[in-house]
Amino acid sequence: MKLNNIKYFQVAQGVWGMRIMFVNVYIIANRRGFPKGWVLVDAGVQGSAKRIIAFAEAVFGAGAKPSAIVLTHAHSDHTGALEDLLMHWDVPVYAHELEVPYLTGKSSYPPADPTVGEGIMSLMSVFFRKAPLDISRNLRVIDVNEGVPEIPEWKVIHTPGHTPGHISLFLPLNTTLVVGDAFVTTKPESAFYALNNIKKISGPPRYMTTNWEAAAQSVRTLADLQPRIAATGHGPVVRGRELQEALRNLADNFEKLAVPAGGRYAEQAAVADESGVTYVPPFHSTTKFKVVVGLLGALAGFAVTRSLVK
Ligand SMILES: [Zn+2]
Ligand SMILES: [Zn+2]
Repeated sequence: MKLNNIKYFQVAQGVWGMRIMFVNVYIIANRRGFPKGWVLVDAGVQGSAKRIIAFAEAVFGAGAKPSAIVLTHAHSDHTGALEDLLMHWDVPVYAHELEVPYLTGKSSYPPADPTVGEGIMSLMSVFFRKAPLDISRNLRVIDVNEGVPEIPEWKVIHTPGHTPGHISLFLPLNTTLVVGDAFVTTKPESAFYALNNIKKISGPPRYMTTNWEAAAQSVRTLADLQPRIAATGHGPVVRGRELQEALRNLADNFEKLAVPAGGRYAEQAAVADESGVTYVPPFHSTTKFKVVVGLLGALAGFAVTRSLVK
């Protein structure tokens, strides 16, 4: 679909998505009850507020305003436009309790691990924003059992691992899953895959996932739901048998397919609680050397990637 130069896609009835650079944002309409509204799921990269607003207006008409924003997690590529959006739409922002420290200025996520390989995006991860956001005034903690009141038909599923308070949204009626980054449908470590939206069901982005055991369990939980439609934070929508087979395969062979061999968090997870990060595994000196070498490559790649996304 294309309207006023805004390109977006339909995921399912009442669900739309738009890709901005390498990350997706979604709109979910509340099909039931009163007031009938809609929510925005995630808030894209920094500088994308105008495009997100145009996306909403393309779907619902001029002046469209969500009843809430729901965050799958608070990574900077999912919250980059959040502060700008809140200046335009002063609405509640829902996140899981364990994600609160990164949205109230209390804690930063553990550092990204650029040594996990698989592509330039892993190396680039050291440039991602690390300082936590503070959107305390708008923030509401999600009650996982109750769900998000603005979209009562959708179940909230806690899917930790990529981040401690990561959530996915599931509509049992037609088994649609809005995944976040619990698993993704491209190879997020590769700029070529991620920027060209090439399909490949993969585990969560390796460079930013800090608890692999929890991440494995989360993918198994999602696979057990047997979704027929999956809309993820990175990559195209995947449906039907293709989705079910690939997701089952990922769940059954997660350690082989998703967990990086080596890397900072592969052996030992970072630990976090309601107050934020409490333990980060040490960075070995041999990996430090790899990072320095890698960074030189990343700087070269940065120029290439920038020219690709322009
Ligand atoms: Zn993420
Ligand atoms: Zn992401």
